[in-house]
Amino acid sequence: MADTIFGKILRGEVPSKRLHEDDRCIVIADIHPQAPFHALVIPRKAIASLADAQREDEALLGHCLLVAHAVAAAGGIGDAFRVVTNSGVGAGQTVPHLHFHVLGGRPLRGGMG
Ligand code: 5GP
Repeated sequence: MADTIFGKILRGEVPSKRLHEDDRCIVIADIHPQAPFHALVIPRKAIASLADAQREDEALLGHCLLVAHAVAAAGGIGDAFRVVTNSGVGAGQTVPHLHFHVLGGRPLRGGMG
């Protein structure tokens, strides 16, 4: 898989505001926040998108979702937050390294369009 900005952030070559890190993922503040709280859960493993995840990644994906809740709770929005992953350019993915957006801190309307 080609290197991405998240690869550089994971290696510490590009600075970021880290909210969490463990052996399987990091969480950083999004540089262009779409809500008062906007974090990105980024697995250390270089998977291009959710569509590229394999059965062997099942535990990693679950871990990322539990971390998403943990960082939301730590950020004071644990009772109302949204987790989104864009898979593929046609779905709005701009960085081809799997990541989960965690959004909250303002009312989020329903609907997925
Ligand atoms: P995507 O569009 O792939 O779903 O999400 C990529 C996200 O990465 C965007 O929300 C964008 O603002 C964020 N992003 C892109 N480059 C950087 C960066 O250098 N640092 C941080 N913290 N976020 C970035």
